Amino acid sequence: MRLFSYDDPDEGPTLGLVDAADRIVPLPAYSLSAELIQEDGLADLRRRLKPLAGSIGLNRSNLRPLPAVEPGKIVCVGLNYRDHVAEGAGREVPERPLLFAKFPSTVIADGEPIVRPEGTHALDLEVELGVVIGQRARRVPVQQAMEHVAGYVVVNDASARDWQGNKAALRDGEKGDGQWLRAKSSDTFLPMGPVFVTSDELDPVAGIRLRSWRIPGPGRPGAGEAQPMQDGSTADMIFSIPELIAFISRHITLEPGDVIATGTPSGVGVFRDPPIFLEPGDRVRCEIDGIGSVENPIIDWTEDSRQH
Ligand code: MG
Repeated sequence: MRLFSYDDPDEGPTLGLVDAADRIVPLPAYSLSAELIQEDGLADLRRRLKPLAGSIGLNRSNLRPLPAVEPGKIVCVGLNYRDHVAEGAGREVPERPLLFAKFPSTVIADGEPIVRPEGTHALDLEVELGVVIGQRARRVPVQQAMEHVAGYVVVNDASARDWQGNKAALRDGEKGDGQWLRAKSSDTFLPMGPVFVTSDELDPVAGIRLRSWRIPGPGRPGAGEAQPMQDGSTADMIFSIPELIAFISRHITLEPGDVIATGTPSGVGVFRDPPIFLEPGDRVRCEIDGIGSVENPIIDWTEDSRQH
């Protein structure tokens, strides 16, 4: 089952089914998060779909996308792809998952601007498979972990590399923050696509292709042309999704609707020679086969209409 979250001009937030023709059939439901917190939420949603068979869907290009879920928390995994560990000089494969978090205030929809905050000059992108939790997970063994997964979304773990302390991003005399809170959790730093795909339809262990592009803005070299950045496979993950859920849930209870951002493959801007950082006017696109994409323009904080 593929679901699409959008903002209907009359009804407000609405959940739709993506049909075989890639059109959107509106459901009697307003948000995936609200469905997931119900006992048996996804199964119940499937039952409510049946009477809608044969409905003519809406053209999705006319709909304003919303993030696929509204997570209560977002747990992220650093250095979880072998090729991404290898692209940073002197980095070793972690012995256990390297966890950090993003706040719900980082989540934005497809098309909304990523705001480059005041004080960073090293904004970068990371395409990631987002795992959406379907059932509360607390001290879950690896063998049972997948029972707690509802499905998958596309996310972009936007990052300020100078604040993160990445040497290739630091100018003379600059220092990182010593931890990653500002670098990873500034407002708008988690673009999320509108499409959610249930876990029965994708097999990340077998390998799902994930890619990202930077589209330089007007006046920049290559303006308007999509420049490939990342091109990886989820088969390259160091810690599998069940291993991540088992590890995280030993200490942190995962609730329905929570998202795990499972790490990023190689090709990020900071490790290019010379490094490539995102500038206001650029666009970034992250895409995962079988799910879809999220594309966002970059604006400077001085252009942010949410001033107060
Ligand atoms: Mg990441």
